Amino acid sequence: MTYRSLFFDWSGTLVDDLPPTLYATNAVLAENGVPPMSREEFRERFRLPYPEFYHEVLPGVAISDLEDTFRAAFRESPQGVTVLPHAREMLDWCHEEKIRCFVLSSMDEGLFLQQARAFGILECFEEVYAGVIDKRERIRELIRTHQLEPSTTAFLGDMAHDIATAKHGGIDSIALATGYDPIERLRKNEPTYLLDDLAEVREWLSQESPSSS
Ligand SMILES: [Mg+2]
Repeated sequence: MTYRSLFFDWSGTLVDDLPPTLYATNAVLAENGVPPMSREEFRERFRLPYPEFYHEVLPGVAISDLEDTFRAAFRESPQGVTVLPHAREMLDWCHEEKIRCFVLSSMDEGLFLQQARAFGILECFEEVYAGVIDKRERIRELIRTHQLEPSTTAFLGDMAHDIATAKHGGIDSIALATGYDPIERLRKNEPTYLLDDLAEVREWLSQESPSSS
């Protein structure tokens, strides 16, 4: 497959932010008198769009009342965010191949920009869309706005919602096993491709790239 444009999810796809996300989620739960979740329980129950998750674990609590606590705890987390292995190599390879790259993420925009700048990878993207609660509602518009060809565009993500978003946009989904959703859940949602990590994606795509022959 020769893709000319790629949408990347952020959390669990390019960066590992599960430790601070779990820490911040547990801070929000504690503030509302709910016991903390283990990493396993969180991965089992968390889903996007995230208001659905909070509606389930904290019924009747407005999302807007949780955000300040979440953001503050995320920044104070003893374990920070790290760039996932092979992410930089993947983005460098896309740059060499002139593949247009975009971010489409639910991550709070302030937190996203802080991370992307700190890691020096913000300039890898033609445009970034963060703080998107339901990615399905934006994907078609973004494909139009940037005049992308759906048959050579894919969405790379680590959650069932990312697969659903790609389907909604009429583009391929490349599910990655490096993030939040367990592999069985990804498989059940029938992504176009399911791969272990970005090294595997790069290897696969570079074998099929015109410049490699
Ligand atoms: Mg993700």
